[in-house]
Order: sequence, then C-alpha cells, then structure tokens
Amino acid sequence: MNNIPFNKPHMTGRELWYIAQAHTNGHLAGDGMFTKKCHAWLEARSGTLKALLTHSCTAALEMAAILADIQPGDEVIMPSYTFVSTANAFVLRGGVPVFVDIRSDTLNIDETKIEAAITPRTKAIVPVHYAGVACEMDVIMDIARHHNLLVIEDAAQAVMSVYKGKTLGTIGHLGAYSFHETKNIISGEGGALLVNDERFAERAEIVREKGTNRSQFFRGQVDKYTWVDVGSSYLPGEVIAAFLWAQMEEAESITQKRLDIWDQYHQAFATLEETGKLRRPIIPDGSQHNAHMYYILLKSLEKRAEVIAHLKERNVNAVFHYVPLHSSPAGKKYSRISGAMEHTDDLSDRLLRLPLWIDMGDNQAKVIAELHNALS
Ligand SMILES: *Cc1c(COP(=O)(O)O)cnc(C)c1O
Repeated sequence: MNNIPFNKPHMTGRELWYIAQAHTNGHLAGDGMFTKKCHAWLEARSGTLKALLTHSCTAALEMAAILADIQPGDEVIMPSYTFVSTANAFVLRGGVPVFVDIRSDTLNIDETKIEAAITPRTKAIVPVHYAGVACEMDVIMDIARHHNLLVIEDAAQAVMSVYKGKTLGTIGHLGAYSFHETKNIISGEGGALLVNDERFAERAEIVREKGTNRSQFFRGQVDKYTWVDVGSSYLPGEVIAAFLWAQMEEAESITQKRLDIWDQYHQAFATLEETGKLRRPIIPDGSQHNAHMYYILLKSLEKRAEVIAHLKERNVNAVFHYVPLHSSPAGKKYSRISGAMEHTDDLSDRLLRLPLWIDMGDNQAKVIAELHNALS
C-alpha cells in the first residue's frame, strides 16, 4: 500500500528554468535580478515598506532582534507554543523570552494576558500566527503603543494570510516569513524580513549585508562601502531566489488549492465534531487564513497516541508539534513564564496535524476514511 507522507513539496514547474536563467546571467550571489523580483512581489502583494529575502525565517527573526536593539536582560513576550526560532533569535542577543498562555480557540497568544507580563525590561511582543490564522492584532498593537513596545510578527506560517484587510507580517513594526519546504510558498530553506517602519529600513539593509553599507554603495548613494554596524550574512543567493520566484508567480493558485483541501477536511470532520470525537480549527471573523495546516484536537494524549498508531499502520503519516518551549531544557534555562500555561500544556498534548499537500488527490479520501475508522 502506498505511503501517504505528511508533507510533499509542491513544484510549479518553472523552478529549474529560472535557476538556469540565474546560471546564464552569471550573477549567483544575493540581490540579483530574481531577488529583486521577489522583493517587488512581496512589497506589492503585502504593502510592506521594504521586503528583504533572508536564508530562513530564523534569520529574519535574528535580524529583527538586532534591529529591536535587544540587550542582555531585555524581555520579549511571546507564546510558549511555537517553534524554537521565535525564542532563540532573541536569546542569541541575551534577551529573555517571557511566555504567555495561548487562546483555546486559535492557539495563538492570549492577548488578554500580555499586559500582565509587561515589566520595565520588556522591549517587544512577538505574536505568532499559528497555522496562518491571525492573532488579535488590533489589541496587541494597542498594548504595544500604550507601553511603547515593538511588535515583531512571526508570520512564518502566514504568507498570504490577512487580518481585517491587512496582510499578516505587515501590521507589526517588523514581520518574518518562512519559505521552508514545509510551508506554503517554498525555496527549500528561505525567508524574508518585512520592514514596516521607516525607522528600521536603512539599518535592516546594513545588518543583512554583514554590517556594511554595501547596498547603498550599489545604489551609488555612497562612494565606498565599509563596516558601519553589527550584522551578519543573511541574504540568500540567486539560485534560491530564482526557485522562489517560480513559487511566487503561483502563490494565488497554491493558496487556493490548499484552501480547497483544507475545506474538504473541515467538512468531512463536521460529524466527528458534533459527536464530540474531535475539535476542528476555529477561524475568527476578520481572519482570512492560507490553509497552512489542518489540525484536529483529540480528547487526550492517550487518544492521540492511539490515533497516530492506527494511521501509521495504514501508512498515513500524521504528526504533532510543539513541545511547549517553557517545558524544554533550553526554555527552562533561558526564559520564564508569565501566568499559568494551562491551554499551552493541554492543547499541545492533544493536537494532531494531518497530511496536507497539493496534488494529494485520492490520498485525502483515504486519510479522511482512516480517521473516521480510528475514532469510531
Ligand atoms: C517554520 C517556522 C519558523 C522557522 O522558519 P525557518 O524558515 O525554518 O527558519 C519560525 N517560526 C514558526 C512559527 C515556524 O512555523
């Protein structure tokens, strides 16, 4: 019987053609023609002031931590239910992640618990748009304004998602996207920093170019380039950008195809939700998601283990994540919690992600049937 993987990277068909063009152009380092196309697309599509390709979302978050001027002991408020890079990027600067519990409906940071976590050391809030579904950004931006904090959106999963008419990643001062092969729009490894605040625009280019003013030099704004700030090499080469461009050209159709698969899962599990066997994802009004992920919430940790085993035996690969950061070894060492982690601990034990990839075809019907069997 054929194996149904959890993820299968989708190629649009033009990736190799564009890579061949990059090869012919003879410009293989970063910031060539394809990088410029990707920047222009991101800026036009999202409305951000400045988009900068990076080699990962992790790199974009690290750049954000430098731009936010995180100093040792500075605190950064974020959910514990997230990928390690959300926290690591700030820990690398000596910052202290302060974890706040998540909401039980969207699994996003509970905005009503943010204010209680603020101290005189707080510098920034990092909302993570889980599964491409928006955090309550109006409330979060109000809190940030009131306390003079920066907002850095971890929009790794949220490319093409919208909150009340605004593209995710463009609402905070800075936003970070991922183009990792497990995300929607991909380049293997890849990411982008969205700079939404004029104050950071010039410095972002410098930090990305090893702390030099090389970008200004190439534009003829300065007559030599030199070391002017801290920084690192955060830009991808043109081969990656060429691949990514082929994906960006198809971003609308990729998103639509994923939404169709998502909707089919959602309909297929309505009855299981009615009979209390599982809970389906909740999309709040005003949030337009990108079908990054289809997950279900089961009754208990034990039930989840049972369902995973049942599916595995029938060659269906369903997976879970994350070990909440506050309970991880490094999390205990480098961060602290604010308040109870009730929903974080409970929901992370019960969440199961189902295979979702373009061209699943009949495989989806099989996943649906096997899940119904597992829960009957
Ligand atoms: C995938 C992911 C990242 C990291 O993205 P990379 O491009 O692999 O560095 C960060 N945060 C979240 C929430 C993610 O899902």
